[in-house]
Amino acid sequence: MVVQVDETFSPQAWQAMEAESKRIAKQAGIRVRFVERSQAAAEQFTDLVVFRMKGKCEMDTMPALLDERGPFAWAFTADGNVLPFGEVKCDRVRESIKTALKPSDYRKGDELFGRALGRVVAHELYHMLANTKKHGKSGVAKDALSAKQLISEKLDFSMHERVTLEGKRDFSR
Ligand SMILES: [Zn+2]
Repeated sequence: MVVQVDETFSPQAWQAMEAESKRIAKQAGIRVRFVERSQAAAEQFTDLVVFRMKGKCEMDTMPALLDERGPFAWAFTADGNVLPFGEVKCDRVRESIKTALKPSDYRKGDELFGRALGRVVAHELYHMLANTKKHGKSGVAKDALSAKQLISEKLDFSMHERVTLEGKRDFSR
């Protein structure tokens, strides 16, 4: 996957995002690898997904902005197909998880933020690979993930989602 960073991205958050996306994708037998866009030009990819990360992808200690609304991320569609191009709103994800963070969580704020981003990416990856706008009933592909679910100890693909994704493309090459 090629990741295009619009503003800033904390290295710890990146690491956690990649680890969490990999962990979840692996459950469906899908291998993923993240490459920053500036590095991507020198490489060749067979199956390519591009995510653009908008806003500031690093935790801060400001109080949560409560006026943020709308989706965390989306995948572009054309003619009823879900395209392998997505956008993630880092600011939206960050402000949302702040509402679920305890004061002591801020020590590992970027790690938890990255975990949340990894889940958001895995969610969009499901839409892309399954080529569906539909959501699962549970698990990481369910509609409207809560702030708590984004940072909880574990959030996985449900069994139904795993079966749907079985045998899909390999995104590590
Ligand atoms: Zn969705």
